[in-house]
Amino acid sequence: MNYTSTRNNTLSVTSAEAITKGISTDGGLFVPTSLPKITPDFIEELISKSYIDRARQVLSLFLTDFTKEEIDFCTDGAYSTGFSHEKVAPVVSLTDTASILELWHGPTCAFKDMALQLLPYLLTKSVKKTAPEQEIVILVATSGDTGKAALEGFRDVDGTRILVFYPNDGVSPMQKLQMTTQEGNNVGVCAIYGNFDDAQTGVKKIFTDENIKAELLKHNLAFSSANSINWGRLVPQIVYYFSAYADMVAGGKVRNGEKVNFTVPTGNFGNILAAYYAMEMGLPVNRLICASNANDVLTEFLTEGHYNRVRPFHTTVSPSMDILISSNLERLLFHICGENSDTINTLFSSLSEKGEYTVSEETLAKIKSVFSAGKCDDNKTKETIAKVWKENNYLCDTHTAVAVAVYNEYKEKTGDLTPTVIASTANPYKFSQAVLGAVTDEKYSAADEFGMVDELQQITSVKAPSQLAGLKGKEPVFKGICNKEDMTKEVFKLLNINA
Ligand SMILES: *Cc1c(COP(=O)(O)O)cnc(C)c1O
Repeated sequence: MNYTSTRNNTLSVTSAEAITKGISTDGGLFVPTSLPKITPDFIEELISKSYIDRARQVLSLFLTDFTKEEIDFCTDGAYSTGFSHEKVAPVVSLTDTASILELWHGPTCAFKDMALQLLPYLLTKSVKKTAPEQEIVILVATSGDTGKAALEGFRDVDGTRILVFYPNDGVSPMQKLQMTTQEGNNVGVCAIYGNFDDAQTGVKKIFTDENIKAELLKHNLAFSSANSINWGRLVPQIVYYFSAYADMVAGGKVRNGEKVNFTVPTGNFGNILAAYYAMEMGLPVNRLICASNANDVLTEFLTEGHYNRVRPFHTTVSPSMDILISSNLERLLFHICGENSDTINTLFSSLSEKGEYTVSEETLAKIKSVFSAGKCDDNKTKETIAKVWKENNYLCDTHTAVAVAVYNEYKEKTGDLTPTVIASTANPYKFSQAVLGAVTDEKYSAADEFGMVDELQQITSVKAPSQLAGLKGKEPVFKGICNKEDMTKEVFKLLNINA
């Protein structure tokens, strides 16, 4: 199986090359040239298997330049320890029609671990195949969860260094503490004055700057990406949609072959795109429901076909979805527009020049035949956390609550009773202030993060994960903040390069 670029469909690379490079030199994203197709038997076989075995089956369809031993090594390393639930990504019942897919049992308590525990293995194997002499510098822009998950995934991994930029006022106190206290001898963390899109744009610029690349090469260093623009981030995410479906069949919620909906709290469009790939491979899916917070650029796009990032940026209680430029949408559009890179180039020049683009009626119709979309503001998010806690005795985080609210509205509006899997993307203790405020109806100040953790535990009897509770009293080691214009300088500084 080969991969091409969304901005140059004549290109053809292996999965190892796509994963090593992270982003194509033309600025496009790597996508598979065709998708493997599965049969009901494929799913039947998954039902009795462990998560690791399910991952092996699905990954081997995409990473055809990896040997079976290499895939076994990577999946064992990623999923055999590090996850605190034996099923890795369990499905739990919420209501008569809704189930929750818990994607946050990994070391950093957010769904990013599902991919970022595996990516370092895939990446180091890929580098060995394509550029064995190079040391890889992972550059990450994060809205909170990716940064920590990437730091944990790559810490002390031979042949790699990792640098993370996060928006100083755009992450939760727990997220900030998770990153600034990071251990490891190959890690660096820096805050920027700006929002996530500033951080992401800065990182993308550094990636594609030929002068910077040349400077790095002198030191035998090369950039790669752990953001969801890297194919190695997306492919592990396809696995859990298969796994969830197999568990829905095993739990008697659907018969093999019957369709389900997936509702996904969405920011950069990576998670829900993985569901789309699973569906295109033959997983029985009725609709993909894209849930946004007050940053509703995707809601508008998926319903009206007009993408417009020129709009107010809202800092919300679901910060990992505070995004106005959803990078992975480019991949969806490439597939939906007949794999035509000219179309993509036209749309994305318009995005970078005017901040907007509009797709054709035909493209919009295709999108709407698969996707539904809805949004949920902070008040509704907190109301939903309270309601789900009171009525279903389930404590969910702010991002998951956005998805639950959007799903409830979808169900009411459409009357669709298809069994639905809602992706739960973070542990509620990552966002204690908002969650505690929601279940008690009182206001809490951000001053005492661990006081709030204790109180939330007392009120709900839901145990805080040790990965978070254990940060209490830890001193930050990374205290730097820079302007977004100075990110390049910061990169050289963190790499000890005088340029
Ligand atoms: C990253 C993240 C999201 C958004 O996922 P995308 O793949 O960027 O759409 C949602 N919730 C949480 C908790 C996240 O960390």
